[in-house]
Amino acid sequence: MQRLLLLGGGHSHVEVIRRFGERPLREAAITLLSPERHTPYSGMLPGYIAGHYSYHDCHIDLEPLCSAAGIVFRRAEARGIQPEAGRVACSDGSLADYDVLSIDVGSTSDVHDMSGALEHGIRVKPVAAFLSAWEGIHAALRQGRQLSLVFVGGGAGAVELAAAMHHRLAKETSAGSARIAMLTDTASILPAHPARVQRIFERVLSGRGIKVHCNAKVVRVSPGRIECADGSSVDADHAIIATGAGAPAWVTASGLKADARGFIAVNAYLQSLSHPNVFAAGDVATMMDYPRPKMGVYAVRQGPILHRNLLHALRGESLRSYVPQRTALALISTGDKHAVASWNGIAFEGDWVWRWKNRIDCRFMATYRR
Ligand SMILES: Cc1cc2nc3c(=O)[nH]c(=O)nc-3n(C[C@H](O)[C@H](O)[C@H](O)COP(=O)(O)OP(=O)(O)OC[C@H]3O[C@@H](n4cnc5c(N)ncnc54)[C@H](O)[C@@H]3O)c2cc1C
Repeated sequence: MQRLLLLGGGHSHVEVIRRFGERPLREAAITLLSPERHTPYSGMLPGYIAGHYSYHDCHIDLEPLCSAAGIVFRRAEARGIQPEAGRVACSDGSLADYDVLSIDVGSTSDVHDMSGALEHGIRVKPVAAFLSAWEGIHAALRQGRQLSLVFVGGGAGAVELAAAMHHRLAKETSAGSARIAMLTDTASILPAHPARVQRIFERVLSGRGIKVHCNAKVVRVSPGRIECADGSSVDADHAIIATGAGAPAWVTASGLKADARGFIAVNAYLQSLSHPNVFAAGDVATMMDYPRPKMGVYAVRQGPILHRNLLHALRGESLRSYVPQRTALALISTGDKHAVASWNGIAFEGDWVWRWKNRIDCRFMATYRR
């Protein structure tokens, strides 16, 4: 019997698993490797930080999802891929063999050219480690500590999380106990979004006393301090690294053909350019003919295609190609059940935008609840 190994319970793989649950596959043994039983849905993460959602509202439980599909759930963290041997090495020393491999392990916050960030910063990705660091900060502030929290990065994830933390802390801690700031190496926050979205968030952040430093390229993070390329520095009890997506180092080192940034290079079948029995989707993969931003919405859309091509690969049938959509709607929340929609150069905001986002997110999560 052929062995299909799924690495990571990311946004594409949860759909692959759900579809195998609808029509279980008899001719292959499928295993999912994941370090956590619960995989986060990043769209609701800022809402969790803000206090609008519980942990279970914004996490998918992989175990029942796998069990409904006859897939073996194995709690383990992949640490290396040996594509020539058809084998994955795990952090607990165990090995997992495969005939067909599918990788959806996401990305990590990009810290290249930033010394000390791994040791002294709190990276937003992987999410599980970030959430446990946040619990510690939250508890310390509630006990009356005074802390400065400085975000490194000025994209959608950074502004949403900063606004969400401010909202939560303003309700639950005494005034002034947390000072939040943001450093970004770009000329303005949210550089990938229209000017109107940038202005809205400049207004939101300054209205809450969150100071934004633009053109501030962080080069070094050390305990209590963040240093920039121009020689300036900022005091920070916690440096929260919310930069863009970076490729996990162990993936880049695996010997699979990669793009210039170390992400797995795949074709329009989501198949590795160097190893035809390896597939990859989500942030960890770059479709070389159709590069797109690293966003969950693309990972979600790749799920059904990945499922179909894994099935066809196992059966020796021809694969189907896929062209991702050119643009994606971004719904960026401001922490207080208000959100801004950004799509194709157009922007609008309102409490109703947050309710719309909430409906989309809750519907998505309900699909994977067992
Ligand atoms: C705060 C924040 C908000 C965001 N909001 C949005 C949004 O609203 N819309 C949007 O489109 N994008 C959003 N994004 C981007 C989005 O998070 C990513 O693009 C998306 O999560 C990528 O999905 P994925 O399937 O590649 O991997 P992920 O969803 O990151 O899942 C990866 C999975 O792999 C597992 N894994 C990791 N390492 C290993 C390993 N070594 N072995 C085995 N398993 C492993 C993880 O535990 C996890 O379960 C946001 C990002 C952040 C930080």
